[in-house]
Amino acid sequence: MDLFHYRKNELYCENVPVRRIAATTGTPTFVYSLGTALMHYQRLLEAFDGHEVQICYSVKANGNLALLAALARAGCGFDIVSAGELYRVRRAGGKARDVVFAGVGKTADEMEQAIRAGIGMFNIESWSEAKLLDRTASKLGRRVRAAFRLNPDVDAHTHAHVTTGRKDNKFGLPIEEAEDLFARARRSLRQIEIMGVHMHIGSQITEVAPYTKALARALAAIRRLRARGHEIRTLNLGGGLGIVYHRERPSTAKEFAAAILPLLRGQNLRLLIEPGRFVVGNAGILVTRVIYLKETPSRTFVIVDSGMNDLIRPSLYDAYHEVVPLALRASRGPRRRVDIVGPICESADFLAKDRLMPIPKPDQLVAVRSAGAFGFVMSSNYNGRPRAAEVLVDGGRFWTVRRRETHADLVRGETVPEAILRGRRRS
Ligand SMILES: *Cc1c(COP(=O)(O)O)cnc(C)c1O
Repeated sequence: MDLFHYRKNELYCENVPVRRIAATTGTPTFVYSLGTALMHYQRLLEAFDGHEVQICYSVKANGNLALLAALARAGCGFDIVSAGELYRVRRAGGKARDVVFAGVGKTADEMEQAIRAGIGMFNIESWSEAKLLDRTASKLGRRVRAAFRLNPDVDAHTHAHVTTGRKDNKFGLPIEEAEDLFARARRSLRQIEIMGVHMHIGSQITEVAPYTKALARALAAIRRLRARGHEIRTLNLGGGLGIVYHRERPSTAKEFAAAILPLLRGQNLRLLIEPGRFVVGNAGILVTRVIYLKETPSRTFVIVDSGMNDLIRPSLYDAYHEVVPLALRASRGPRRRVDIVGPICESADFLAKDRLMPIPKPDQLVAVRSAGAFGFVMSSNYNGRPRAAEVLVDGGRFWTVRRRETHADLVRGETVPEAILRGRRRS
């Protein structure tokens, strides 16, 4: 569900014709519908109405400051995986105490920044990390709150690159070692209050069964831990809720909550969830312009001005993104099978393959749909390409919330040593 729609043959984002945005910012440009993102956040909140729940939006899905600021003002918390994301959250006006910090490779420096900022909770992913966090907190004379991220070994039935809850994944700690882990923590961690259990089993999960399975395992572990005197107050179910890219029929927020809540009744657990894609995935499109048509004996290529440096999901995960014209009328005609590819010098550079559609003409604008999550955040300057602009739409208004990068941005931070400029001599 989203607020992109056609009005008189023309693609609109909320009440703004996308063509008008492209005329202002050029292409490629990510266009975000604020109404769509907030609607998804609200839906999740309403689905869990009546249960104590904190939604921590996963910043890594889309860290644009304006989006984060809007979510913070709507009362949303944040799930971060680096000190850089913490910096973003704080710059956007998010409250540190509503931040939870996951990730397998937190450095002492990142921990220190998070402790000083006063974040709500660390999600610890290894015993080594627990020890380092304890030492770091001790050095700062602070006590911190944390959960252990447990790996429940369930199959989330999603792409191999985005499954995180199997025992062979690098994430979390084996759930069968939970008792030993909590016992060790009680013995040896002085500065950490372990108050919860965290899980995050994968991304783009379209059914509730993996969640209920993981939840059942977590609740069993929590029962065993409580029986040994550990006070467990929070359960963080992570993110991963799937969205529609093509023909998926993901469970709705209501169905998700309806499956989860009965299991939590009477458990005296504060629930945390960390949706990323669910909030922003359908809230964004990538607008790009057709540069050339290229016919070879075997294929028809539509070459556009955006590629895997802007949106790597098709290349990385074989992800499907719908590609639609900005002007319906301009794209009538017989349908042909085409590949929509970018200008990057890689055969993996494509946005869509084997699409049956009327062949777009050079200069025509098209939109790559559902590009709000893991789009801009994964973009790069590969092939010397400035990163795309980002535009936020709210009703009838729109703002460029990140200007397109310039060529000067491409070399920012680089220096040529004086000795190289003088001409290199052998030493
Ligand atoms: C990536 C991530 C999320 C969000 O995943 P989505 O699939 O975008 O909902 C939540 N929690 C953790 C720990 C993550 O790493």
